[in-house]
Amino acid sequence: MIACLHTEDIQHLDALVEGCRRVAIAAHTHPDGDALGSAAALVCYLRQSRGKDAVAILPDSPAPSVRPIIPDGAPFLFLDRQPEECRKRIAGSDLVFLLDCNGFSRTEGLQECFEASPAPKVLIDHHLNPERERFDLVFSTPEISSASELLHWVLLSLPDIGGDARKLPADTAKALLTGMTTDTNNFANSVYPSTFRMASDLLDAGVDRDGVLSTLYNQYRENRVRAMGFLQYEDLRITPEGLAYMIVTRDIRERFDLEDGETEGLVNVPLSIDRVKMSILLKEETDHFRVSIRSKKGWSAQQVAATRFHGGGHENASGGKLYWPGDIPAPANAAAFLERVSHECLS
Ligand code: 5GP
Ligand code: MN
Repeated sequence: MIACLHTEDIQHLDALVEGCRRVAIAAHTHPDGDALGSAAALVCYLRQSRGKDAVAILPDSPAPSVRPIIPDGAPFLFLDRQPEECRKRIAGSDLVFLLDCNGFSRTEGLQECFEASPAPKVLIDHHLNPERERFDLVFSTPEISSASELLHWVLLSLPDIGGDARKLPADTAKALLTGMTTDTNNFANSVYPSTFRMASDLLDAGVDRDGVLSTLYNQYRENRVRAMGFLQYEDLRITPEGLAYMIVTRDIRERFDLEDGETEGLVNVPLSIDRVKMSILLKEETDHFRVSIRSKKGWSAQQVAATRFHGGGHENASGGKLYWPGDIPAPANAAAFLERVSHECLS
C-alpha cells in the first residue's frame, strides 16, 4: 500500500461498495484521458469484479481524440446527450464517486444533482484543495501522477484484489495505464517511483502498452498536426519575462476545422524553450476562453490559474477561464491581458 492510503479508509470503502447496488461515477467537465481512464477503470471494476450496477456520468461527451479510451460496452452517460437519464441515474444511486477533480463544481451542469444526492460520496483525486467536507470518504494526494494512479493503489488495496494487479479486470488495467500515461504526458511530468511500480504491475498483468500508445498518439487527423505547426510558427508569442502564449481563436479553429480536444498537449511545447517559464493556451468559446497553463519548477501555474483565471489544478499544470465582458472587454483584448499577467506574475 502506498503511504497516503490508510487501512481504515480502505475498509470503509470496501464496506460502502459491498453494501451498495447502484453506483454513479463522476469526473470533470471536458474530460481528459485521466478523467475518462479513471472513470472507465472504476466502472469496469465495480461491474466485473463486484457485480454492481455502476455507470459513469459526465457533464459533456468526450472529444473524438480521447473517446476511444472508453472500453467497448462500458456504460457512460453524458449530460449533453442524455440529460434525463443522467439525472435519474444520479438520484437513483446509493453510492457516488468523484474522480480527477477536487469538488462537484467541476461537474458543471451536474453539480446540483450530485450535491442533492443523499448517497455516501467518495472522492479519489490528485488536485490541490479538495472539498473534503462534501465527502464521506476522501482519497486525495497531490504527490502522485494522476487520479488513475491513485485509483490503482486504492483498488490494489481492496481485499478481493489483494495487491495483485493480475486480478483486476483487463479493461480496468488498460484504462488505468491509459489515464496515467496521458496525465504524465507519457512519463514526462509528475512521475514518482510509485508511477513506475504501477506501470510495471500493469504490464505484468498483460496490458498492451503499444496498443495504448497507438490509441493515444498515433490516430490524429492530419488537420491537427498542420494546425499545431501553424500555431507554433505564426501564433506563438513570448514575452520578455518568459511567458509563452498561443490564442486559438474561433477563426483558427474554423480554418483548420479543429475539433474539441485536438489542441490537447500543445500548451506543453513552448516549455521546451530555454527562456520560457510558463506557457498559456487560450481557446475561444462563446463568452470566454478556456485557459490551459503549464509552468517550469519554481513558477506556479496554480497561482496564476487561481488569481487570474477563476481556476486551479496542480502546481505546474492548471486551467481556468477568461470571460468577456467580465475579465476583458472583448476577445481581441486577450493578448494585452496575458502581457499584463506576464508582467505581474513573472517579473
Ligand atoms: P488542462 O490544461 O489540461 O485543461 O488542465 C490542466 C489541469 O487544470 C487539470 O488538472 C484540470 O483538471 C485543471 N483545470 C482545468 N480547467 C480548470 C478550471 O476551469 N477550474 C479548475 N479548478 N481546474 C481546472
Ligand atoms: Mn488528472
